[in-house]
Amino acid sequence: MRILITGAAGFLGSHLCDKLLADGHQVIGMDNFITGNRENIGHLAGNQNFEFYEHDVSNYIYLPGKIDAVLHFASPASPNPNSERAYFNLPIKTMKAGALGTHNTLGVAKANNAKFLLASTSEIYGDPTVHPQVESYPGNVDTIGKRAVYDEAKRFAESLTMAYHRFHGVDTRIVRIFNTYGPRMDLDDGRALPNMLKQALLGEALTVYGDGQQTRSFCYVDDLIEGIVRLLYSDEHLPVNIGNEAEISILEFAETINRVTGNQAGITFVPQGRSARDPQRRRPDVTRAKEILNWEAKIPLQAGIEKTMPYFKEKLGL
Ligand code: NAD
Ligand code: UDP
Repeated sequence: MRILITGAAGFLGSHLCDKLLADGHQVIGMDNFITGNRENIGHLAGNQNFEFYEHDVSNYIYLPGKIDAVLHFASPASPNPNSERAYFNLPIKTMKAGALGTHNTLGVAKANNAKFLLASTSEIYGDPTVHPQVESYPGNVDTIGKRAVYDEAKRFAESLTMAYHRFHGVDTRIVRIFNTYGPRMDLDDGRALPNMLKQALLGEALTVYGDGQQTRSFCYVDDLIEGIVRLLYSDEHLPVNIGNEAEISILEFAETINRVTGNQAGITFVPQGRSARDPQRRRPDVTRAKEILNWEAKIPLQAGIEKTMPYFKEKLGL
């Protein structure tokens, strides 16, 4: 297949490029570098099966030649108010990437009679009242809070994807991605793993927001990419959760990072602003992924942190 990947210079997009090239496809990467990094795809320069377009997906997309699949991953993805590269501080661009970007990429898929895969998120469940989260749960989402720009854009993107599937017959897929980490994350985007692993490797205290009793379920990137590619190759049109079922409190997560890195500097509790509306718990129900894709996450947190450390050390010059 000749596959368009938007957000190709990002964390997940760059790993998807590698995986799909390794599977023998031709890949077209597209990115405007708003939160991504040229270095993530630097190793692909000169690869005859890889093309790259610097373009904002919120604007009309013109691509020469036939395209067989479109994977729409372009969107800011970090909620941290302290980072310039987080969607809290890119609110309108985030809504445009989720809304206009999804419309444009669906248009490319329709015009080419191509498969389409949307990168959605566990954030569409908001601060969930059903736990673990099953795909049939419609969510508990605030329309006007600071997270809303991301959550509602992704919810709109899911609705538009299903509309193109039902009305235009586009061969669509929706993956609901739960917190994922690994090499090529932006060390400064403010998400929990980059923030804390960087702090630990620099021998600083880890910042835990609130009391740290909120939970997440962290998936190593290789597991996630395998699940996404299986979904691409499947015929499933309804949303599928992909994530690691192992749920951990953020305090335990910080303690794990300190233990694995040998950091002695401990933990600092940082008050959370009420406007942040940090989801209190998050864990995927992956029954559908197991049944439809024969997929589940395999890499435990400690092993995943160990696999991620060399990249962080290199970036920090350690
Ligand atoms: P990332 O910030 O590393 O990658 C996103 C990429 O999209 C960046 O390279 C950025 O420059 C690009 N981009 C953003 N807006 C664009 C635009 N208008 N035009 C062109 N390029 C644009 O983040 P990531 O973690 O790799 O996330 C990728 C996708 O996966 C996002 O859609 C995100 O919502 C989704 N997701 C990620 C996670 C996770 O834990 N990593 C969880 C849920 C969903
Ligand atoms: N978090 C934290 N310290 C940090 C960064 C994040 O305690 O330095 C918490 C954050 O409040 C949230 C969890 O870790 O409860 C995961 O945050 P992240 O930004 O990775 O993504 P989210 O799951 O909230 O989208």
